[in-house]
Amino acid sequence: MKAVAIIPRKPDSIHLREVPKPSVGDVEGGRGVLVKVLQVGVDGTDKEINAGDYGDAPPGEEYLVIGHESFGVVEEVGPAVTELAPGDFVVATVRRPGNSIYDRIGTYDMTTDDVYYERGINLRHGFLTEHYVDEPEYLVKVPPGLKHVGVLLEPTSVIEKGIAQAYEIQRRLRVWHPTRAAVLGAGTVGLLATLALRLRGLTVCTFGRTKPPYRNSELLKEIGGCYHSTSDASFTEASREHGPFDIIFEATGFSPLVFEAMNILGKNGVLILSSVTGGDRTVEVPADKINLGFVLGNKVVVGTVNANREYFETGVRDLSQAELTWPGWLPKLLTHPVKGLNRYAEMMRLLTEVKDAIKVFVEVA
Ligand code: BGC
Ligand code: ZN
Repeated sequence: MKAVAIIPRKPDSIHLREVPKPSVGDVEGGRGVLVKVLQVGVDGTDKEINAGDYGDAPPGEEYLVIGHESFGVVEEVGPAVTELAPGDFVVATVRRPGNSIYDRIGTYDMTTDDVYYERGINLRHGFLTEHYVDEPEYLVKVPPGLKHVGVLLEPTSVIEKGIAQAYEIQRRLRVWHPTRAAVLGAGTVGLLATLALRLRGLTVCTFGRTKPPYRNSELLKEIGGCYHSTSDASFTEASREHGPFDIIFEATGFSPLVFEAMNILGKNGVLILSSVTGGDRTVEVPADKINLGFVLGNKVVVGTVNANREYFETGVRDLSQAELTWPGWLPKLLTHPVKGLNRYAEMMRLLTEVKDAIKVFVEVA
């Protein structure tokens, strides 16, 4: 079968190759599930892997099949699988457990191991291929009514984790009624974070660089959010009018904004950081002021990466509620379809050149 792969650490090595088709028997104990891949979304991580920044091949192999935002349909199950049946739509989680205690209790997204295993990202093949096999534990069922947006579940799971962690942390307050949130960044993650916070009844201001109106600012309006361009007023200036914020979700990829967010976070507030910033940027910050604000305001900042099964399941519920609340909104995020695995070059071009693409995805079958 065909797969889109890269040669680890070799810039621009993306290619199509023939790989062995997996079978349910590849998983021990009759627990294999064979999934036919329908759609795969791509994001900045795939871009960086193809740039050679990170991403290793499974031990003993020289290539890595990329693609971690999957959506597919079960084709065959092993004799000991009761959770899934042929015809079920599924999305696979990305990370696979290592050895830390967190890995062993199903919270592999919280691993303390230095080496992490992520399908399509590091040491495990991904989903930009025709079929894959996995265990039911890592496959999350998507209701047929959501099949047109199922490919959005993986990026949704990442924001769900961030928000769930924030709420979990805030149980320290005994009573917490967040009313105002700010989301930094109006890309895919920013839009999905805004959606999830709107579904939880918060007033949400989303910030981006582009001057409105443009597609994403209009999309935010449709779900009752508001959009502000930081080219009109800085985040700090805008927060005087729209803050103080109980929650700030950072998803811009620009780390200096983190310190501005720390500075204007409301009392008892929580700041969620989700940008994977691989550079080595340095910046001067008002350290005393930020520290004082954190101490006197009992504030919290939390970093978040990846998502375990629980957050994919929360994601299914939020995507369902979103489709019922604002029908047709989610499909609008699927802006750039690419037909077929053999058009991987077009996929990369859209990913790197089309700055306003919300979601580039491959229609594999
Ligand atoms: C993926 C996450 C992953 C992270 C770090 C993101 O693009 O969506 O699942 O944990 O990259 O590799
Ligand atoms: Zn991703």
